[in-house]
Amino acid sequence: MRYLASVAVSLLLATVMVTPPFAVAGQQPASPSPVLTPERRETAGRIIGAALVDDTGWNRLAYIGDRIGHRLSGSAALEKAIVWAADEMRRDGLDNVRTEKVMVPHWVRGAESATLLEPVERDLSMLGLGNSVGTGPEGVTADVVVVSNYDELERLGEAVRGKIVCYNVPYTDYGATVQYRGSGASRAAKHGAVAVLVRSVGPVSLDTPHTGALRYDEAVAKIPAAAITIEGAETLGRMQSRGERLRLRLVMNAKMLPDVESANVVAELKGLQYPDQIILLAAHYDSWDTGTGSHDDAGGCIQIWEAIRLLKKLGLRPKRTIRVVLYTNEENGLRGGVEYLATHRAELANHLLAVETDSGTFKPEGLALTTTNEGLRALMADIMSLLEPIGAGKLAANGGGADIGPLMREGVPGGNLDVDSSTYFHYHHTHADTLDKIKPIDLKLCIAALAVMVYMAADVAVWPSTGKPA
Ligand SMILES: [Zn+2]
Repeated sequence: MRYLASVAVSLLLATVMVTPPFAVAGQQPASPSPVLTPERRETAGRIIGAALVDDTGWNRLAYIGDRIGHRLSGSAALEKAIVWAADEMRRDGLDNVRTEKVMVPHWVRGAESATLLEPVERDLSMLGLGNSVGTGPEGVTADVVVVSNYDELERLGEAVRGKIVCYNVPYTDYGATVQYRGSGASRAAKHGAVAVLVRSVGPVSLDTPHTGALRYDEAVAKIPAAAITIEGAETLGRMQSRGERLRLRLVMNAKMLPDVESANVVAELKGLQYPDQIILLAAHYDSWDTGTGSHDDAGGCIQIWEAIRLLKKLGLRPKRTIRVVLYTNEENGLRGGVEYLATHRAELANHLLAVETDSGTFKPEGLALTTTNEGLRALMADIMSLLEPIGAGKLAANGGGADIGPLMREGVPGGNLDVDSSTYFHYHHTHADTLDKIKPIDLKLCIAALAVMVYMAADVAVWPSTGKPA
């Protein structure tokens, strides 16, 4: 606490020190920025300082991890978490706290295993992929063919019929590697494979399998699919390269049950002057049924919730409304994001900006923003410069997020909090995604960054180039 308090004080000083009239001559912008005033700099410093000495967010993140646990769509834990958050937000005195109904898929994992039978009998660490069909209680027993990419699969073609295809694809980056998890089952099923194993999508492993959603091509048979670890996939690859016969039994009691009711949790800091105009903060509350979903994405939920709670506590009420949405069902359906757009279509034009945080709770670096509005980009560049004292001042292009995707496709400018996510895919979708992988200081810095970012945007006198009043 003493350390954090002194950091807060030095940050306050740092922001005051760079305040004009001390700015270097010749470096003033052509027209004075509406946000880079001494008052704004002081306010930013005050928000940052308050975030650094407040443990409310950390305590709530710990509560979610320790007392609620993981929160897969359809689970009792997710619904408990939703009720708890809405109750706590009302206790915080936030505005218009509500839950908005969303019907979500209800996939359950059931007991599962992968047992190598030949050339040696051995259980492999595994996690069935979300939305996968099951194998039936007897499981699927078949020979395994290891491939290192889709080209190899296509070359083998009919040779994989009746077999289990194992994709041993080394991780390059998430986007490039995750396609094997997403579409590997249907690609193999086209050639008659009976099941699929996917090397976990991550750069390192401590025998940690990573789950995640797959998408079936409705035109081909749905076959069961599971992730195995890097260690497991490498073992199978070595055995095959030595010419050994690989035989494996995969048992998955996974099944998709009828949709169930869930909800997005919504809370606001109502704007003083233009309450109908909305700056939206997004994160997803559901998680995989592994670990406690602390990085993905309970931490993001706490970041955005704390951002407005902190502003309220500081008596900082902006001109426009800041709306926080804890989305349900990002992981295996995206129903929360889709339903939000359907529910709020009438006020779509009032959504000025949406910012999502779903890259883990790590040291914040800045904002990645997608917009064709150059005035907005310039405004956000100025705002982000207020976060340089905590190293979070970067403005990058091509931001966004899964939950705000439906809004962005309708033209709402969207972005995401950029963080140092260099270790995110060590934990992502694994049993290791737990609270101890998050540093309290990083959570506080993320809260500070988001609070400054959205307060300054929501409070600007004139919204860039949209012609909206004053
Ligand atoms: Zn996520």
